[in-house]
Amino acid sequence: MQKRIPIISNIVDLIFPNLCPACLSEQPLHNHFVCLNCLSDLPFTHHYQNTLENELAMAFWGRLPLSGAASILYFSKDGKAKQLLQRIKYEGRRDIGIETGKIMGHYLKQSSMIENIDLIIPVPLHPRKKAKRGFNQCDLLAQGLSETTGIPTDFNAIIRSRNNPSQTSLSRENRFHNSQSLFKVTNPEKVNGKSILLIDDVITTGATLESCGRELLEAGCANLYISTLACGELI
Ligand SMILES: [Zn+2]
Repeated sequence: MQKRIPIISNIVDLIFPNLCPACLSEQPLHNHFVCLNCLSDLPFTHHYQNTLENELAMAFWGRLPLSGAASILYFSKDGKAKQLLQRIKYEGRRDIGIETGKIMGHYLKQSSMIENIDLIIPVPLHPRKKAKRGFNQCDLLAQGLSETTGIPTDFNAIIRSRNNPSQTSLSRENRFHNSQSLFKVTNPEKVNGKSILLIDDVITTGATLESCGRELLEAGCANLYISTLACGELI
């Protein structure tokens, strides 16, 4: 099987020329995951500079006890964070997912919270959705983050027990109830006493992260941290 890998990557190169994933231009990438124009133009949040008091951390005040939180980019309707996520999720660009995870790691390594973390856990997709897409984009982000920081990842510690219906049509209160018990910790020993970094691609209402985080805390997680690639308007 191993001998086939170079052939496969050549085919991938043919199908997907080396375009910048954020602006789709043929700008040289210079070993970065996006071109230099995009790198200087990406909407960075700088949350990593204060992981206790930023928009993401504050969005969970009174909802979930977090030891720290940081998004890397701001998400907007026509923004570059959305374009990156579309490349990963809908064009199946796993390579961009992993590279983006490495960028998350690059910024989180500059935060005070990273040295406390024992384990990285990506928010799981429902198995049916994962089977349809072929992968969970949060797994790719976690993989890249793990490669950069050296912190291990567990992809099976928590599973999604059911799909949540579209949340946009629900009131905030109903969203809260709707998100209850979406997740199940498979083996509490894996998370008991650990400081865990929970990873999601983008946060909108926070209901999914809240539900997943609560399950981890109830299973004995000692300190819970959250990081997302992108965040919309939260407060
Ligand atoms: Zn670009």
